[in-house]
Amino acid sequence: MSKHINSVMETHYQKYKETIKRVARRNYQKRVAWLNNHLQNESCVHCGESETICLKLYPHDTEIRKQAKRVGTNDDSRKEVHRLMNSCKVVCSNCWIKLDNDLIEFL
Ligand SMILES: [Zn+2]
Repeated sequence: MSKHINSVMETHYQKYKETIKRVARRNYQKRVAWLNNHLQNESCVHCGESETICLKLYPHDTEIRKQAKRVGTNDDSRKEVHRLMNSCKVVCSNCWIKLDNDLIEFL
């Protein structure tokens, strides 16, 4: 009898674990998605590249992405991230490299 209960519990736990993983993955995608949504309407300030996947926020991209993943999806916890984003310029990966090497500068 107790063996039966154990196996029921185990099955339950396995299902539960899968659900947690699924929810965590969905939340992660949601957190990164709003950042990509934001970049969707942007383009590189230097060359006009508008492909979202190429765009970064100069110079705080790493910090913004780190915080975007950590903070919740409500507006309050995004305030700090928005503050960072507002102090950034949108550039593409190519221009980022050029900027980093002083080949171009913002006018
Ligand atoms: Zn560019």
